[in-house]
Amino acid sequence: MIRIDIATLFPEMCEAVLSESIIGRARKSGAIEIYCHNIRDYTTDKHRRADDTPYGGGMGMVMKAEPIYRCWQAVCKELMQKPYSIFLSPQGHVLTQAKTVELSQKTNLFLLCGHYEGVDQRVLDKIIDEEISIGDYVLTGGELPALVLTDAIARLCPNVLSSALCFEEESHWNGLLEYPQYTKPETWEDLSVPSVLLSGHHLKISQWRTQESLRVTQEKRPDLYQLWIDKN
Ligand code: SAM
Repeated sequence: MIRIDIATLFPEMCEAVLSESIIGRARKSGAIEIYCHNIRDYTTDKHRRADDTPYGGGMGMVMKAEPIYRCWQAVCKELMQKPYSIFLSPQGHVLTQAKTVELSQKTNLFLLCGHYEGVDQRVLDKIIDEEISIGDYVLTGGELPALVLTDAIARLCPNVLSSALCFEEESHWNGLLEYPQYTKPETWEDLSVPSVLLSGHHLKISQWRTQESLRVTQEKRPDLYQLWIDKN
C-alpha cells in the first residue's frame, strides 16, 4: 500500500479535497494512506515564521529551509526510511501518465508544496529527489499540483477503483485517447446512441471502440496519434 505525505502551509486546502469522493473513500477503507502536514508546525520561533524575504532583494517571500527540513525529518523518523521526495515546481518535468504509473509503484512519497516566490534552494538540494510540474504555467502554490499528482497516483493503486480495467481502458494508458461514452436514454434530443453499442456483440463493440479511439486521438491530439503510429 502506498503512503503519501504532503508538506504544505495550507493543509486544510489539501484535506478538503482528499476527504471527498473516491480518494476519501479509499483513505477510509485503508487502501491508501495520505497525511497532510502543516510546515508551520515545524517552526521554532514564537511567531511560527515559515517564510522570509529573499537574499539579494526582490519581490515576495521565500519559504525557509529549516521548518521544511524538520517536517521531512519527522516523516523519515515515522517511516524509518527516506521517502521518495518530490517538489511540485513549474521548473520540473511535466507530469505524464507514465510518470504517475512509475510513482504509484513506490511505497512512500513525500510531496513538498512551495508557495509565494518559492523555497530556499538549500533544502531542495538536501531532500528532493525529483521536481514535477503539472504544466507550463505558474500557480500561486504547490497545493493544487500536489492534489493533482496524488489523485492521479492514488487511482492506480490496488482497491482504490473497483478494477484495473477502470484505468487501463482510459485515455493515455496505451498512448491513445478513449472512445466516446454514452449512457441512458437511448435517444436524447433526437440524438441516438451508436447502434453497435446496443447490439450486445462484444467483438463488434470492442472493434468499434478501438476505431473510435484512433479517430478521436487523430482528431484531438495528432501529436499523440503520430507517436502511437510510429510505435505500432
Ligand atoms: N518563483 C518560482 C519560479 O519562477 O519558478 C514560482 C513560484 S510559484 C508562484 C509558487 C509555488 O507554486 C512553487 O514553488 C511551486 O511549488 C508551485 N507551482 C506553481 N506552478 C506550478 C506548476 N506549474 N507545477 C507545479 N507546481 C507549481
